[in-house]
Amino acid sequence: MRWQIGRRSENVEDRRGSRISAPVVGGGIGAVILSLVVALLGGDPSVIWQQGDRPTTESPRTTQAQDKMADFVSVVLADTEDTWSSIFRQQGNTYVEPKLVLYSDAVKSACGFARSAVGPFYCPRDQTVYIDLSFYRDLKNKYQAPGDFAQAYVIAHEVGHHVQNLLGISNKVQAMQSQVSEVEANQLSVKLELQADCFAGVWANRAERSRQILEQGDIEEALNAASSIGDDRLQEQARGYIVPESFTHGSSAQRVRWFKQGIQTGDSKQCNTFATASK
Ligand SMILES: [Zn+2]
Repeated sequence: MRWQIGRRSENVEDRRGSRISAPVVGGGIGAVILSLVVALLGGDPSVIWQQGDRPTTESPRTTQAQDKMADFVSVVLADTEDTWSSIFRQQGNTYVEPKLVLYSDAVKSACGFARSAVGPFYCPRDQTVYIDLSFYRDLKNKYQAPGDFAQAYVIAHEVGHHVQNLLGISNKVQAMQSQVSEVEANQLSVKLELQADCFAGVWANRAERSRQILEQGDIEEALNAASSIGDDRLQEQARGYIVPESFTHGSSAQRVRWFKQGIQTGDSKQCNTFATASK
């Protein structure tokens, strides 16, 4: 992927190297004195207890390779901003850019506390994408999906969830899920995920048309990633057999199909995964 000359996003927040510790209980004599001081000054002593809850910044220990990766993520995010702003404008809407937080190990989002094992995720409450860059190492080694365009696809997929949030799709699906069985709720989750894959494809199509970002083999890299993180593949790796009813992201074939649909049409209106019977 040709990305080096691309614009950098202003929506990236780097929280790598921040530690999140559990709230301080006890706190020793220092804390007692401090709480007194705060109380004497008319403040709320409870702020002392909450301080342990906040991330304390340590000197960042990021490597050069990780910094290059962070730079790459910033360019991909900026490219999705340009693409979706123009699509929303064409449809008479305004695109609100999401934030993206880089973190290491664990992070606090408006959707709760998360460890990096959950993989990259989008929190609709703070309209933020969260990613621990170590996921890219897993993508390459554990899931055998190397390549920069595979990495770009991951960001574009999360941004796809943001687009669903802005369009009110996520809310509608959530409301429907609360009224159906678990199996049906899972099917709806799959459709939501496949649509985010399709939206990622739409981004790739538009970015290529306006900025010629693709190099030979890029599409295959992304398709390989989509296929490698299909539920069937993941379940088979994890437990040696698959249970289609429990899928929440879609099979490898489904993920590839919808990413292709987006990349071939470049039209978000062709991403209505809810209208088609699941294939
Ligand atoms: Zn997703």
